[in-house]
Amino acid sequence: MPELRAAARRMGRRHFLTVAGAAAALAFTTHLPAAGAASPAVLEGRRIAADPFTLGVASGDPLPDSVLLWTRLAPSPYEPDGGLPAQRVEVQWEVAFDERFYAVIKSGTATAHPEYAHSVHVEVPGLDPDRSYYYRFRAGTWISPVGRARTAPSPDAFWVPSLTFAAVACAAYFDGYYTAYRHLASEDVDMVVHLGDYIYEYGVDSAGGHRGYTDRSLPAHFNNETVTLQDYRLRYALYKNDPDLRAAHAAHPFVVTWDDHETENNYAGAVSENGVPPEEFLLRRAAAYRAYWENLPLRPPQQPVGADMRLYRRLRFGRLAQFDVLDTRQYRSNQANGDGWQAPSAESEDPSRTMTGAAQERWLLDGWKTSEAVWNVVPQQVTFAQRKSTPSADYKLSMDAWDGYPAARKRLLDGATAAGLDNLMILSGDAHVGYGFDLKADFADPASRTVGTEISTTSLTSGRDGAQKPGNWISLTQANPHLKHYDGRRGYTVVRLGQTNADIAFKTVSTVTRPGGTLSTAATFSTGTGTPGLHTA
Ligand code: FE
Ligand code: CA
Repeated sequence: MPELRAAARRMGRRHFLTVAGAAAALAFTTHLPAAGAASPAVLEGRRIAADPFTLGVASGDPLPDSVLLWTRLAPSPYEPDGGLPAQRVEVQWEVAFDERFYAVIKSGTATAHPEYAHSVHVEVPGLDPDRSYYYRFRAGTWISPVGRARTAPSPDAFWVPSLTFAAVACAAYFDGYYTAYRHLASEDVDMVVHLGDYIYEYGVDSAGGHRGYTDRSLPAHFNNETVTLQDYRLRYALYKNDPDLRAAHAAHPFVVTWDDHETENNYAGAVSENGVPPEEFLLRRAAAYRAYWENLPLRPPQQPVGADMRLYRRLRFGRLAQFDVLDTRQYRSNQANGDGWQAPSAESEDPSRTMTGAAQERWLLDGWKTSEAVWNVVPQQVTFAQRKSTPSADYKLSMDAWDGYPAARKRLLDGATAAGLDNLMILSGDAHVGYGFDLKADFADPASRTVGTEISTTSLTSGRDGAQKPGNWISLTQANPHLKHYDGRRGYTVVRLGQTNADIAFKTVSTVTRPGGTLSTAATFSTGTGTPGLHTA
């Protein structure tokens, strides 16, 4: 067994592994194709001269028996090649019960390919349900920071007392510091749900936009709009090099979906914002989707093929919660009425318009029909509830949100009713303010049945500091009686799902345009299964 002996010799140098871990790693390594240690295409770890873990570590999509671990090697994160030659790098990983790795229970080796910007996505199977695990990577002599992963409860676990998650969105680097991510790292949550605008395609000047207190000399290649694969990879490197973002990822597993800015503002399917021909825009979309995959803790079914990526997916947390993560960008009809805030029209109300595409819509409605969950949660991107701009008859609606796709929204609300859901909670981001809505069977009739609840989390940074009551606070709340909460500051939202009630806390930070902003709870609500809608706690 020369392969085994070679593997054992390599293991022998990995003194950071425990004996048990080495045995497990050995077992794992033998299942890999020949490592090709002599191939010139492999960069020996000892040749990595600077810390390659500048982009942190991450875990994603908890399953009952498995965690997904991510990292991306980049000794020079602001360089196009990340500071590595176009060679493969062997990366060791370890999973332990404890943060100090006294009890390593799984370990192995993954290959960081230059074709994927030296990212690795490791699925670790064979774990116990419903518990935290700690993980780290090693490349050469460099050891990564420690991250925390978590498995979901067993699928048939009838009594899961609670699941707590934070919802986040919209983190324009140039609009401020990731103070909210930093506070999020200290929250006691099982996971974080990211609802999109993880990066923005817009350029970042040498001062880091509104981060002038610390970022004063960023390379010029960040100050352009991302179009090519190299542009997107570099932009992720800039964002992910931020210490507060890295802390949030290390602390909690993330369940991520994208919105528009990971590709381009307000794109719709193959239609770009500014009339670029679809065949040309799809090249850009392919670059954006590939960089998204490379930089986020996603599982193999989400790996893109060209300009296509299956991002919508279902996660179950015992019988307590079913999360149907949506993608409302890749398959949607083009925005009606020229996009922006417009009066509704025959065009926007055309029943053939879709937000999800037919296949995703059917998948969601079928998933609701068979759901046995106490809570049906739908992480997605844009405002779902009706949102009139003013109480007067000449109100406008956002054509980019579900208000521009009212027939598609009605199909979902009708589907929820037909499925007998009494536990619907839709999550959204995108708006750069915090909203809490009751979802009405007929938004024109405040007395109509409340079908569910929408929690729209504010931005992490986008829009800079904001104000508690934005200028349109009175008109928006008067125009939309189902709007129960509206706050214009930065922050995130924490939701605790229990067996009968859910508690929602809208959290805000005092500032993002200076470092060191403090955290407050702006408002709290509860909602119950069978008593949908937001109630002041
Ligand atoms: Fe945004
Ligand atoms: Ca957006």
